[in-house]
Amino acid sequence: MQLEQLFDRLKFEYLPASLEAVCEQAAKQKLDYPDFLAQALEAEWAGRNRRGIDSRMTQAHFPAVKTLEAFDFDFQPSIDRQVLRNLAGLAFVERAENVIFLGPPGVGKTHLSVGLGVKAIEAGHRVLFTTLDQLMTRLKRARSENRLERTLKQLTYPKLLIVDEIGYLPLSRDEASLFFRLVNRRYERAAMILTSNKSFADWGEVFGEQVIATAILDRLLHHATTVNIKGESYRLKEKRRAGLLKSQPPTGAETPTNSDKEDDADAA
Ligand code: ADP
Ligand code: MG
Repeated sequence: MQLEQLFDRLKFEYLPASLEAVCEQAAKQKLDYPDFLAQALEAEWAGRNRRGIDSRMTQAHFPAVKTLEAFDFDFQPSIDRQVLRNLAGLAFVERAENVIFLGPPGVGKTHLSVGLGVKAIEAGHRVLFTTLDQLMTRLKRARSENRLERTLKQLTYPKLLIVDEIGYLPLSRDEASLFFRLVNRRYERAAMILTSNKSFADWGEVFGEQVIATAILDRLLHHATTVNIKGESYRLKEKRRAGLLKSQPPTGAETPTNSDKEDDADAA
């Protein structure tokens, strides 16, 4: 069989385009047959892997792509880096455990959740990001259209579900019991990351009443890592920095890099 025909039958999509380069490399490095084959197959695999990551990134519906690498841990000393490093290893996803980020607005809860989500996607997992508000809208619409069961199933499918912004809007009793059904479905089957500006003690108010809140918390916290962020808003820091820059005389040390350094030194 011709090579092109083989590529076609085997549905190789990426190797054909890079075959010339792979062969050149193999000749240069005087690779033996098995090593050459490995490099050729790796070219195909890398292309497929990239496409898988891209499609999972789209399906995740992140509000913005944020990475753990871009997170400034010096600015948020209450966060234990080792805990985040462990979480980035994704054992919690494999074990279907939960992660809960608590803290006031602007301290990086969404950023860290998305950063872990990106890691999970790179490792081959399906991820879905939603705010609690969007989630409720979706569940209620599904129920009114008689497809709640199917939607609950769809929401159990991603290996990691991120539910952002718990606590900004209190849920009705009815909404809380819908959320409970979802949490119960995922319990010990698939991981969740939750973020909230409220402490656990206030989750009773968030979920309308203590009984459902207790049942939800009971399942969520059974296997969970809680990261309590006590610190300053990064957004305010940036605003303040902008204010500082504006208030400086135009001839002063106005280059952003200088101010960056000063500001960081203050925060440290
Ligand atoms: P929260 O969800 O806690 O309200 P976000 O995660 O949305 O806060 O953070 C607000 C903004 O500040 C985002 O653009 C985020 O990327 C950025 N940010 C927050 N904390 C940090 C940090 N420590 N390092 C880098 N960027 C940060
Ligand atoms: Mg947020």
